[in-house]
Amino acid sequence: MNDRKVRVRFAPSPTGPLHMGGVRTALFNYLFAKKHNGDFLLRIEDTDQTRYVPGAEDYIMESLAWCGLKVDEGIREGGPHGPYRQSERKEIYKEYAEALVKSGNAYYAFDSAEELDKLRHEYESKGENFIYNASTRSSLKNSFTLSDEEVQRLLNSEESFVVRFCMPDNEVVTENDIIRGEVSFNTGLLDDKVLYKSDGMPTYHLANVVDDHLMEITHVIRGEEWLSSMPLHVLLYRALGWSDTMPRFAHLPLILKPVGKGKLSKRDGDKLGFPVFPLLWNDPFSGEVSRGYREDGYFPEAFINMLAFLGWNPGTEQEFFSLEELVENFSLERVGKSGSKFDPEKTKWFNHQYLIRRSDEQIAEQFEAILKSKGIADYDNAKVIRICGLLKERANFVSEIWNQGYFFFQAPTEYDAQVVKKRWKAETPQMMKEIAEFLNSVDNWDTAPLKEAFSAFVTGKGWGFGAVMNAFRLCLVGAGIGPDLFDICNLIGKDETINRINRALNQIRL
Ligand code: GLU
Repeated sequence: MNDRKVRVRFAPSPTGPLHMGGVRTALFNYLFAKKHNGDFLLRIEDTDQTRYVPGAEDYIMESLAWCGLKVDEGIREGGPHGPYRQSERKEIYKEYAEALVKSGNAYYAFDSAEELDKLRHEYESKGENFIYNASTRSSLKNSFTLSDEEVQRLLNSEESFVVRFCMPDNEVVTENDIIRGEVSFNTGLLDDKVLYKSDGMPTYHLANVVDDHLMEITHVIRGEEWLSSMPLHVLLYRALGWSDTMPRFAHLPLILKPVGKGKLSKRDGDKLGFPVFPLLWNDPFSGEVSRGYREDGYFPEAFINMLAFLGWNPGTEQEFFSLEELVENFSLERVGKSGSKFDPEKTKWFNHQYLIRRSDEQIAEQFEAILKSKGIADYDNAKVIRICGLLKERANFVSEIWNQGYFFFQAPTEYDAQVVKKRWKAETPQMMKEIAEFLNSVDNWDTAPLKEAFSAFVTGKGWGFGAVMNAFRLCLVGAGIGPDLFDICNLIGKDETINRINRALNQIRL
């Protein structure tokens, strides 16, 4: 690396919600920038107006903010290299498109879409592939084949045109990708890509290279799907005279489906029941709602930790990394070439790990929102904290604490039929009646002494401990779940414990 300040960019197109693969690209860019005390830019690549989706820009920014990836320069933050939205930089690209034509590295082409389609079909019928490049351009309608006057006439007319890159014939372009090592391409197989259109809009390739140069980007870190664009980009840098400051490239491996082959898609998520987007997305056109990690109850720290491991590894046994620790440990040298399988179960496990590492107070704060949504307003704060502590081991998400512990807040109204069948025997009602009477006589309702007194009572009666506890749990919980029964008794209180036994005695019919 030379002594230029490290500057990287995340350059999404606002064509819909950001896929988690996109978030990973943003994350790796951010980590690399921060590791080298550099800048992390957000550039919106919206030159393809036909694919523009309202709301996508805000979604991208909210996703980065949720993940804690602070943008140094971008459409909201501003910065010395703005504007950061490509549709606002149209004039800039025009100048470079013209310069490329002037230097002979690009040319005007006037072939209509219909003419090109026809050619494609003709080639296909011969079993060949039509490529607009050195092998065909001399027989097509462009500034190489038309006279200067004709070219001028067409440019001044209403006819639409494009500027195409003049791909050299049969040259081997070799570039050293930080992740993939040396990658070579033969230009004979590449086409004369469109760089600019007469509607005044550049295509991705021109805008991307021009902006990376003007924004002084030092490293282009992006998904593997862009690897095939690298030779064109390298040649564009050369043609524009910018080879000396060309960024280094690093193409990240794919995120693969949990089962089977290929790239992880939204359909995999729908099929297997996990989100592929960071935040919930309401599609403005179809009205379709897609799940998001945030709304599904994931902690951003867990999501980021999981994402970091999709492609990168620290080379040690350490599994948990805060964002700061990731910055400290990250290097592109430790990003692998091969795709990494996404594992939805491991993702839940990460969330569980982050949940149990949270303080009971922190969890309770989030859990109180759930209680309110269930219509429970009257609760004791200290008890909620204790309940969260008792149940966090059993949950992957804060919301699951409700399923694991609803009975702390409301008496059961139903009794699990299967548990009743298994645990409520002919002798149970009499036993529970005696237990209720005994409990009424207990003075110290703290968990440990209560447990001790209860055990002595049951032993004295000669009852089987298991049978008693299962029936007792059924009375208090309505099912066979929950933490230690005496914690439950203690938390719901003596009166409520006895009430629940009486209610069960009235309601459970054999
Ligand atoms: N706009 C491209 C995208 O949507 C950016 C690719 C790149 O980083 O060069 O992914």
